[in-house]
Amino acid sequence: MPHPLPTASARPSDPHAHLPLGIFRGMSRRRLAVGTVLLSMALVVIHDLPASATTVAHETEPVVEGQQLVLTDATLAESAAKVPVATERDDFTLSYYTPIQWPLDPGTPISSYFGNRAAPCAGCSSYHHGIDYTPGYGTPVHAIAGGVVVSRAISGLGTFVVIQHQVDGQTVYSVYGHLVSGSAVPVGATVSRGDVIGKVGNTGQTSGTHLHLAIMVGDYNFIDPLPWMRKHVTEAFTG
Ligand SMILES: [Zn+2]
Repeated sequence: MPHPLPTASARPSDPHAHLPLGIFRGMSRRRLAVGTVLLSMALVVIHDLPASATTVAHETEPVVEGQQLVLTDATLAESAAKVPVATERDDFTLSYYTPIQWPLDPGTPISSYFGNRAAPCAGCSSYHHGIDYTPGYGTPVHAIAGGVVVSRAISGLGTFVVIQHQVDGQTVYSVYGHLVSGSAVPVGATVSRGDVIGKVGNTGQTSGTHLHLAIMVGDYNFIDPLPWMRKHVTEAFTG
């Protein structure tokens, strides 16, 4: 009969068969050796990780005594105000909104339009630089927009008013001619849209009572007032 192979169980009293440490109790030498290799490999992997991966959070984010961030609508608004914001813009021209209205009731009859015409009177222009309205003598005339009354030499208009405006970034003048003598607002006055700047009369070279309305875009550059007004009027007429 062959001699039986010695086993751990066969020699339980052998002090070298198992290590005395509790957690390794029951592990054979071979399994312990394999476990040690695996542990070593794990340690190498951990060693190769970036430092931050094994760093505890509170070491990188120290809490400073006495500082506290309280987020409210007010603090958010304050911080937003302190941060310079780069404004993105499309390619557009900045323009200012200028309220404009008709100088008379827009239903007022027109007796003469802009452009070439037969001179209606001796000394009247054959090229008409404005349009003529016939609302009746003494009818109040309103500023088409806010502006300043300025002095411009224009012949034949009798008592007249020129108001300088800024419209769409341009200097525009509105001209009101043949007003009742003494009814015109003085040069230098600041007027608001709709202010009465004079009364319809027949001073100057006229064939009768009417308001001569002219528009200049830039000094003495008379344009047809009617299409310009139709394009720019934004407010209802209030007489
Ligand atoms: Zn006229």
